[in-house]
Amino acid sequence: EKKYDYLIVGAGLFGSVFAHEMTKHNKKCLVIDKREHLGGNVYCEQKEGINVHKYGAHIFHTNDKRIWDYVNQFATFNNYINSPLSLSKGKLYNLPFNMNTFYQLWGTKTPREAKEIIDGQIKEYGVKSPKNLEEQALSLIGKDIYETFIKEYTEKQWGTKATDLPAFIIKRLPVRYTYNNNYFNDIYQGIPIGGYNTIINGLLEGIETKTNIDFFEDRVALESLADKVVYTGKIDEFFDYKYGQLEYRSLRFEHELHDVENYQGNAVVNYNDSEYKFTRIIEHKHFEFGKQDKTIITREYPESWDRGKEAYYPINNDRNQDVFKKYKEESKKSKHVIFGGRLAEYRYYDMHQIIASSLTKVEEILKIEV
Ligand code: FAD
Repeated sequence: EKKYDYLIVGAGLFGSVFAHEMTKHNKKCLVIDKREHLGGNVYCEQKEGINVHKYGAHIFHTNDKRIWDYVNQFATFNNYINSPLSLSKGKLYNLPFNMNTFYQLWGTKTPREAKEIIDGQIKEYGVKSPKNLEEQALSLIGKDIYETFIKEYTEKQWGTKATDLPAFIIKRLPVRYTYNNNYFNDIYQGIPIGGYNTIINGLLEGIETKTNIDFFEDRVALESLADKVVYTGKIDEFFDYKYGQLEYRSLRFEHELHDVENYQGNAVVNYNDSEYKFTRIIEHKHFEFGKQDKTIITREYPESWDRGKEAYYPINNDRNQDVFKKYKEESKKSKHVIFGGRLAEYRYYDMHQIIASSLTKVEEILKIEV
């Protein structure tokens, strides 16, 4: 008889939801994380009374009422609506691309005028079968929007020229012919009052957790504690990189405390131009309509990745997908291990998708057991 039913490796959203649900079903869980805190990438650090999104700005949004109700068990959400700005060639523009953006860019006032310009530029610069990201963007949206908002931003993001990037990175470039600056189209959106830690603490209440523990430092002993392992770390690391290393893009965050109440007047300002090495500045207090005397801003610098850095964005090219497939096949053989979350699935997921996939996994397991 093992001490735990589940050893859960990783206290991010996937692991925390899994632990919460299984505990409700009288399973005994131990959650470990190699970081010094719980919460994974949604973790916030409190400074000057401000919740600082330590691993990048997180805005919760979903169309799924079940997921919205689920998170609302643990926190009340405020009515924050994400409406980023973009500083491009010295001027501020509203995002996402909408009638405000077009007015700022061309002075157009009606949807018909704006559409005429966009359609005209698509005709003029677009190509039938785009061979790279630049051609793809020009074909979807025309020259002005591409050059003002996409080219330099994307090149910073990937550290590669737009003409050397694959076309598939951009599948769609939605434009909106209304004066609506709400970045997301989802019905539900907001920031949890008290920050994301409130949700994590709620999920993990009454559950045994241990931080500063790396699964791989004591793998055999840790695995022997539980009947099953839920693994939410990097899948290639689990198999000792035997098929090669999966690649990521990383980010570096430069946090700065300013002795002013309001630094930029908005939570998110994108910096398109290449003269800035960062892609955006986040002013955290605005996520929660904060009234503190001071403010904390974060500049976000895209970076190349190596094993010593945090893995943020999977690079979904053919090579990595092929390598991932091999690990995925291998993972099916480890019957006592459940793989889940963004790192084990080598996929970018939003928070609501991670919660949904964790709930689905729990349901699948419980169905088999009864
Ligand atoms: P994680 O949160 O990464 O948790 C995995 C945990 O496993 C980590 O804590 C890690 O330390 C631990 N771990 C790994 N290996 C080991 C080991 N060997 N031993 C012990 N512990 C280990 N989503 C949105 O919905 N809205 C947003 O606005 C948004 N913004 C984002 C911005 C950025 C910059 C990024 C990168 C992501 C954003 N997301 C956003 C996505 C969101 O962060 C993820 O959906 C979510 O955090 C994934 O949860 P997870 O549990 O899968 O992974």
